[in-house]
Amino acid sequence: MSVQGTILVLDGTSTNRIMLKVQLTAAWYHVVQGDRLHGLPGLLRRTRPDLVLAAQTLPDGTAADVKQVVMADPDMVDVPVVAIAPQNDKTARLNALAEGLDDVLAHPFKDTLLLARVRSLLRSRAEAQELKLGGGSQPIGFAEPAATPISPPRSARVAILAQTARTGALWMKALSGRLRHSLSAHTSSNLQALLSGPVADAIVVEVGKTAPGLSPLADLKSRGATRNTVLVAVVAENDTALASEALDRGADAVCMGGFCVEEVVLRLENQIARKNRTDQMRATLRRGIAECWIDPLTGLHNRRYAMQAMDQMARKPSRTGRGFVVMLADLDHFKAINDRFGHVGGDLVLTEAAKRMEHTVGSGGFVARIGGEEFMIGLPDSSRAEAMELAKTVRNCISKTPFTLPDCETPVPVTISIGMTSPNPPLPQNEPLERLIRSADSALYAAKKAGRNQVRVRQSAA
Ligand code: GH3
Ligand code: MG
Ligand code: MG
Repeated sequence: MSVQGTILVLDGTSTNRIMLKVQLTAAWYHVVQGDRLHGLPGLLRRTRPDLVLAAQTLPDGTAADVKQVVMADPDMVDVPVVAIAPQNDKTARLNALAEGLDDVLAHPFKDTLLLARVRSLLRSRAEAQELKLGGGSQPIGFAEPAATPISPPRSARVAILAQTARTGALWMKALSGRLRHSLSAHTSSNLQALLSGPVADAIVVEVGKTAPGLSPLADLKSRGATRNTVLVAVVAENDTALASEALDRGADAVCMGGFCVEEVVLRLENQIARKNRTDQMRATLRRGIAECWIDPLTGLHNRRYAMQAMDQMARKPSRTGRGFVVMLADLDHFKAINDRFGHVGGDLVLTEAAKRMEHTVGSGGFVARIGGEEFMIGLPDSSRAEAMELAKTVRNCISKTPFTLPDCETPVPVTISIGMTSPNPPLPQNEPLERLIRSADSALYAAKKAGRNQVRVRQSAA
């Protein structure tokens, strides 16, 4: 089994550090140690921990100071910091949570709870890491700013999933004065009611030993709609075994000893803020991925997309036995347009031409901008006659209506030449895609040679 993550243990008392090290090393974590706040930035840089366990009181500071130092390092903002309290002191726990610590564990540790908490925190940390490029602080959205430290949460949807309607109503009443989020209450026996409404950002789940026990947690974590929803489990009594299991079944935080409104509020706010940040990173990542396939000027697909799409079309057997079609289209005398109307005028012509072609091709195929004034059109399933018809319509959609440019009284006539080839898929294994493109390109060359504003067909060279 390989090492599961690096944990920094910060404690002024060496026996405490050793006890933790023994427990964590046995569970295959790599443990690094420190005994004070002084020198922490350097220690963080050298050891790059995934989690910090810090004594509530250090010789020269507190666990809250440790959290501040960790948050100040842009590469470490989402490294959780857990305070280790000398005893199960509720006020100290609430203070620590209010100071932004990710959790508080009390001495003496129950192995199971410590390890379940560590696993749960490392799970969310790994999730945040996955959303980053190469583990750095810069999300994949290129020009996006780095992840910001935990910010005050926006208004969120919080649901209560209690075992009885009465408990749900009581919890809702207690929370309603303390949270600015929208609240709803449901019973565990009617999970469907919760799932049929708008997706909750956070759910406070009552967990008990009797049915349904822990099953709603696993159920909510495994559903697509609620996979990223924060789950705060409320465990009656100080049942560490149940709390550990709740964490392993997917709870992001656990309140032990029954419903304590202060603690539930603090844990909810902390977790909602974390979710808010991972949601932003996820959206940035999605945008970044989409941008990899899009040409920024025209909004059409780009060359990279066109090549992938064509490869799929060419290698997949046709359902109807008809062929697929590749067209290369190139605006005629575009250099002259640029010379006359400047690069900005040229760009406007490109954007308008792209819009017209996309509208003409519709959802039956794709249009991509693969070079300056060069486009590729792909049709996955089309007869040659249909393709020829479409190619002529594309040519006409450019030539029939001159382009209107600002500062230019008379609309500008523009034409396009198109070369196409239409082999039958699947393409033989040894037939490279380049050959197809060369065939379409030589048809395009023929169209240019024939006087431009023409469509020409060439069979794919065997
Ligand atoms: P042909 O009919 O033979 O295709 O002639 P052409 O003038 O269209 O072809 P040529 O390859 O000589 O010129 C293409 C021009 O397209 C040259 C280049 O400056 C311009 N161009 C390439 N990319 C862009 C762009 O993104 N915006 C603008 N405005 N012009 C571009
Ligand atoms: Mg051209
Ligand atoms: Mg060209």
